Amino acid sequence: MKKHNFSAGPCILPDEVMQQAARAVEELDGSGLSLIEISHRSAAFIDIMENACALALELLGLTGKGYKALFLQGGASSQFIATAYNLLENKGAYLNTGTWSTKAIKEAKILGEVVEVASSADANFNYIPKEYSVPTDADYLHITTNNTIFGTQIKNIPDTDTVLVSDSSSDIFSRELDFSKFGILYAGAQKNMGPAGTTLVVVREDVLGKVTHSIPSMLDYAIHSSKGSMFNTPPVFAVYTSMLTLEWLKNLGGIKAIEVKNNAKADLMYGEIDRNSLFKGFAAQEDRSTMNATFTLEEAKLKERFYSMCADALINGINGHRSVGGYRASMYNALPIASVQTLVDVMKELERTA
Ligand SMILES: *Cc1c(COP(=O)(O)O)cnc(C)c1O
Repeated sequence: MKKHNFSAGPCILPDEVMQQAARAVEELDGSGLSLIEISHRSAAFIDIMENACALALELLGLTGKGYKALFLQGGASSQFIATAYNLLENKGAYLNTGTWSTKAIKEAKILGEVVEVASSADANFNYIPKEYSVPTDADYLHITTNNTIFGTQIKNIPDTDTVLVSDSSSDIFSRELDFSKFGILYAGAQKNMGPAGTTLVVVREDVLGKVTHSIPSMLDYAIHSSKGSMFNTPPVFAVYTSMLTLEWLKNLGGIKAIEVKNNAKADLMYGEIDRNSLFKGFAAQEDRSTMNATFTLEEAKLKERFYSMCADALINGINGHRSVGGYRASMYNALPIASVQTLVDVMKELERTA
């Protein structure tokens, strides 16, 4: 019996994607070979890579707008230093909204001057700072559109004169935005796109080539771009599975269609968190993430019961991150609303029987 998978990442993927990916490991499209034993230079894999890149741009509405999609390795965590290497000449501006942006700042400081334009560390990152100014000589502004651990999400993407860079690991492809606002957008695959092992980097080509220092090849977006993400051996399984998820999303009606579903799930979840006297939401209401709902159970003595009721209902992965405590229900694209309903029913039952 498949569990209701609220894991924050790696996380749930669509069933049909999982099945097709598993089949391809045995044999890729009747080729007599496994996906993971063919050359990445084979026509079959080049097709997969090109299709994955094209689908990513198409879904984001960026086809023909000067952007390249790259499938790289090293996780979103490697992009913290890579984005700085590719852009940081004068100084990098950072909006600090959580653990991941704190890490991005730490990495960029290795390379040069960093300005933290605002931070919500004063309130354990339970809100998104909105009033801040970006130094005019900053090379870029780095934001984190969705804060996976704290359950906050930037609703209004800032307008800035400098290059906007975003770590969108946990909400890419989940909601419509004007993606042409971004100079660089990156996301580890394992939250809304595929298995761990690849990171999507979407880069507007005109932002590259402006720094005077040299860039290590593996961190140089221009090199990866000129080689079609095949400067070195790409993570073939992760790229293939990501391609399948992007196809699944396209067939569903794209980001517009999934956003409707994601909003319905979030409304159901937060509706219960607010209604149920036993639970309390962690993030500021206006900044609540549609992907990761963070909440606490006020009465310590009920925790064990809630835990066992969730286990009985086959609910998996709702323990909060250690820096927040409580619970976190991650509701990525592939999570059906029926899973959210199951969790909500358990919360209601806990209240009824408390
Ligand atoms: C998970 C996550 C990361 C880390 O991704 P890795 O691929 O493990 O390096 C970075 N940023 C955000 C917003 C995340 O959710």
